[in-house]
Amino acid sequence: MTAKWEAVIGLEIHVQLATRSKIFSAASTAFGAEPNTQACAVDLGLPGVLPVLNSEAVRMAAMFGLAVNAKIAKRSVFARKNYFYPDLPKGYQISQYELPIVEHGQLEVVSDGGGRKIVGITRAHLEEDAGKSLHEEFSDQTGIDLNRAGTPLIEIVSEPDMRSAKEAVSYMKKIHSIVRHLEISDGNMQEGSFRCDANVSVRPAGQEALGTRTEIKNLNSFRFVERAIEFEIKRQIRVLEDGREVVQETRLYDAGEDETRPMRSKEEADDYRYFPDPDLLPVVIRSEVIEDIKRQLPELPAEKASRFRLEYGLNEQDAEILAMNKEVAEYFEQTVRKTSADTRRVANWVTGELNAALSVDNLDITSSPVTSDMLAGLLTRIEDGTISGKIAKEIFRSMWAGEGEADSIIESKGLRQITDTLEIELLVDQVLLDNPVQVGQFKSGKDKVFGFFVGQVMKLSKGKANPQQVNSLLRKKLQ
Ligand code: ADP
Ligand code: MG
Repeated sequence: MTAKWEAVIGLEIHVQLATRSKIFSAASTAFGAEPNTQACAVDLGLPGVLPVLNSEAVRMAAMFGLAVNAKIAKRSVFARKNYFYPDLPKGYQISQYELPIVEHGQLEVVSDGGGRKIVGITRAHLEEDAGKSLHEEFSDQTGIDLNRAGTPLIEIVSEPDMRSAKEAVSYMKKIHSIVRHLEISDGNMQEGSFRCDANVSVRPAGQEALGTRTEIKNLNSFRFVERAIEFEIKRQIRVLEDGREVVQETRLYDAGEDETRPMRSKEEADDYRYFPDPDLLPVVIRSEVIEDIKRQLPELPAEKASRFRLEYGLNEQDAEILAMNKEVAEYFEQTVRKTSADTRRVANWVTGELNAALSVDNLDITSSPVTSDMLAGLLTRIEDGTISGKIAKEIFRSMWAGEGEADSIIESKGLRQITDTLEIELLVDQVLLDNPVQVGQFKSGKDKVFGFFVGQVMKLSKGKANPQQVNSLLRKKLQ
């Protein structure tokens, strides 16, 4: 972006809550059932039914609020948001409007340039999800699946505090990490349990007033959020530089074309004719209940990261990466418990080798072919000098390919590190004998060839010679 313009971004994140039944009915929320098998009379909006609030959804929303230092409303109100859409048979969505359950939270994110900044959370309100229109299943018709209708959501609305696509992604990842740690959502983005609308505007740098925004709907991956916002910032700058005006509208991101396109003009709140739902009482939460939820909050990612720094001596970056994902953090700590290896070594392997292998195979850490037991076994063998770090990587790949545990691979492939001085000395002598030219160069002051000798000895030993011993023996012999 040119320095003349500043981007302003605010996100609305929809999080499906992991309750077993829906927010106002007893129907199951499980994903993937046959269409319309998990929608009861209430979800279908049949006449004469009455919604009954799921207390678990309320508890989960309060947990989220406490986790972002927000105010939990002692009294909040459900409202009807009226609009017509085929996947909304009632003709209104039950949401919260004037009195949401959560307000005034905040979250620290990584800003551009690597520093930290606080993003304000305006509110988080409880609402029901709508059904789904199925456009691909039928050739010239649209199907409606109401299984999702009535699934509890919290919609988390941020202040327009972000200034780049990267900051927005950092914020979104932190929210994702928090709801996963709280276990209030599975956070599955492919299944739509965690999705985001991005509001984007630009203004001349230094100007206080916000520019006109557009809203990009339904982004369901971190990468799409980043790409869509980046595209939209550039597009708006182009519009303004051409002397035209940004139109306030709702847009869709097309990942294939990597562009956003207009979807509809933006509704104003008035269009929804909100009013308190007469079928539902206000939600009243006593302070003791809030205190009780607070006491039961699990360790949150930020707390976990600072514990990792203190307890395991990790640097800030590693601690944060490991603490961000609950399962990764668990894997790391389990590995630490099972090995005598240095905790920083464990951290390096989890964030490095293991993480790389997982992303190549597109696997989640919970289905890693190398379990924490196996990794611990491998790292113990580096620590006790049985193998070098380099050979360890080779063994890791064998374990990944399903060839068994570190110890059995070390034995079957004869990968034990050579630490016998006599044996290494033989290799060193051989290399010096084979390379008289380089020996001459070294003796006439060309220090750099030393690395060449080390490399040759390691190669001759198939990577098994202890590198420290190779170094010191070479020094001795070349004096
Ligand atoms: P709605 O989308 O329902 O009209 P709001 O006006 O509350 O709701 O705004 C929704 C989101 O848009 C919030 O996250 C807010 O921070 C963000 N937002 C509002 N104005 C702007 C703007 N000019 N530029 C970027 N984001 C904005
Ligand atoms: Mg909106």
